[in-house]
Amino acid sequence: MLPKYKRILLKLSGESLMGASNYGIDPKVITQYAHDIKTVTDLGVQVAVVIGGGNIYRGMNEAETGIERAQGDYMGMLATVINGMALQSGLEKAGMYTRLQSAIKMEQIAEPYIRRRAIRHLEKGRVVIFGAGTGNPYFTTDTAASLRAIEIQADVILKGTRVDGIYTADPEKDPSATKYETITFSEVYQKSLNVMDMTAFTLCQENKLPIIVFDMNKTGNLLQVIMGRNVGTLVKG
Ligand code: UDP
Repeated sequence: MLPKYKRILLKLSGESLMGASNYGIDPKVITQYAHDIKTVTDLGVQVAVVIGGGNIYRGMNEAETGIERAQGDYMGMLATVINGMALQSGLEKAGMYTRLQSAIKMEQIAEPYIRRRAIRHLEKGRVVIFGAGTGNPYFTTDTAASLRAIEIQADVILKGTRVDGIYTADPEKDPSATKYETITFSEVYQKSLNVMDMTAFTLCQENKLPIIVFDMNKTGNLLQVIMGRNVGTLVKG
């Protein structure tokens, strides 16, 4: 069977990199992600990744940190580059060719973000990691993921989370919550379900970019999603 998607944008949260701890990067998680990404690149799927930074720094809580929001946001963006470098090294260890492109220039460690170059890398089978979010404060890495996915004309954005899809209510709080297999963009709005922040979500909707929310921490799930199997929740127009 052929993969359903040819070019994907995989959004990984920074928090998921923590594994069982409450800060930093768990090497076991990196190894698992690298293994799962390799399984799909081996099928010829082009993979771009946007990674969050929440395991290291989040800029939003000025009241707690005492650091001005914009300054904190830039710190958060730098955190995503650290995660990107960790993932890059895991992917290379697993035998993949990779490039890290940063939305904030830091030429010694990453290429600057150049859309056409990113596409060229993907065509050559390299995994492209987009670091530093959108390069702008007051945005999130979910928005960076939507933006980059649209720019590189990805077929789908895959949001890897710790939950295995979108539920009628928070499954950790409400045991009667049930999972949606598919849902439309407008239903998500109407029911105020939390898929991505509104900026990210609206970008996907306006550009007809489907989103799949799935559990990336279960090994093999990424492949299932790529093959079009019924894993996670598909959001579409
Ligand atoms: N951030 C930002 N602009 C962006 C992307 C990220 O300012 O385009 C900052 C923001 O402070 C955010 C932090 O980087 O809190 C880490 O990103 P995010 O919270 O999206 O990571 P995740 O929740 O996926 O771990």
